[in-house]
Amino acid sequence: NFSLKQLQTMDAAHHLHPFTDHKDLREAGTRIITRADGPFIYDSEGHELLDGMAGLWCVNVGYGRKELAEAAYRQMQELPYYNSFFRCTTATPVLLAQKLAQIAPEGISQVFYGSSGSESNDTALRLVRHYWALEGKPQKNIIISRHNAYHGSTVAGTSLGGMSAMHDQLGGAVPNIVHVMMPYAFELAMPGESDHEFGIRAAKAVEDAILEAGPDNVAAFIGEPIMGAGGVKIPPESYWPEVQRICRQYDVLLMLDEVITGYGRTGAWFASQSMGIQPDTITTAKALTSGYQPLSALLVGDRIAARLVESGGEFYHGYTYSGHPVACAVALANLEIIEREGLIERVRDDTGPYFRQVLTERLAGHGIVGQVRTFGLMGAIEIVKDRQTRERFPGDGAAAVVVRDHAIAGGMMMRATGDTMILSPPLIWTRETIDMAADRILRALDLAEADLRK
Ligand code: PMP
Repeated sequence: NFSLKQLQTMDAAHHLHPFTDHKDLREAGTRIITRADGPFIYDSEGHELLDGMAGLWCVNVGYGRKELAEAAYRQMQELPYYNSFFRCTTATPVLLAQKLAQIAPEGISQVFYGSSGSESNDTALRLVRHYWALEGKPQKNIIISRHNAYHGSTVAGTSLGGMSAMHDQLGGAVPNIVHVMMPYAFELAMPGESDHEFGIRAAKAVEDAILEAGPDNVAAFIGEPIMGAGGVKIPPESYWPEVQRICRQYDVLLMLDEVITGYGRTGAWFASQSMGIQPDTITTAKALTSGYQPLSALLVGDRIAARLVESGGEFYHGYTYSGHPVACAVALANLEIIEREGLIERVRDDTGPYFRQVLTERLAGHGIVGQVRTFGLMGAIEIVKDRQTRERFPGDGAAAVVVRDHAIAGGMMMRATGDTMILSPPLIWTRETIDMAADRILRALDLAEADLRK
């Protein structure tokens, strides 16, 4: 006797629930977010929370931006939608492409729009395989990814990703995708192995996979510059240059998934720029509109773009909402805010370093913290039972959930992924906001430690 009004996806350890109304939702423990302003979100019970996750890694310019609402309203009145098939386009996706050309890393020349990161990774997968087919090497179609990677929830996104729980429920992945070790020194480095050495070893796993499959069969390597959903895993500095060198050596394309790192989070427009990576494709979404509209953009490098154009053939691929005019209008206004307010420079020169300093000085020595790591405005706090041995609490991530629940109850919205607490705040955070976050996280850690050591 229920009507299925809303299907809600829950964090791990929950299930899909059919819900009937808000009261049932609240009784089941779901918080209903009703409004937001600047760095704060508010729930239906009137609680104020500091949003440490920028929505879901996307609201980079913060909440309540009238310019973005106005851009959407203007565009909806002028032209709410037209397709990008029939040899048509609308004006805003073209303007946005020009803007993207200015900010994208060198060597990027075209863009393919979608509505989500997952969709754009599907596009990327098809595109790189199509590229090699055009080159007369259709068998060069294996994609190498990493364990624990997250590349979306479509069948292709899940297949590219390396989350075992998701694969277990996939019932058949897209073929010819293989997964290698992730660059996660905290758990995977051997005793006595330096970060540098570990980074080289993790990159070597990519080379081993290429050699095992045969370089003539490997189309591309895909990776998030910094694994996000997998726990803000920041690779050692030696990792990406070595992965890039290996890809070039075996003529394997390099696909970056910057759905989280794109548009300012790392203190540059893209992490590829912060880290000196020159990819063939870059998947972007989320912060392109700061989450005010669903929009993704696959940035395509010269090599693939030129081959596609030269072939004169068509790539039979496109979504109804590719280049949606309203979403693109919002993206333009959003990128303008990021530029006008100097948010990227602020992350690079001020709030990013301050975030690292405060988290390190105030949290890294806590009794249940095994490591703090940050890059720009992305952060991770490893929850451990024993700081020396890095032994975890039992329950596979249950301890981090205890910390998270205390954090949320104390007004700090953050995420638990496995045994790691993660932060990815709006880029409008100031030094004061960072101090406030550290206070609240510290309190949550204290309360959690008291619970966990009972
Ligand atoms: N790639 C990465 C790195 C992501 O973090 C996400 C979303 N968290 C996606 C792809 C999928 O994006 P979407 O949810 O918009 O489909």
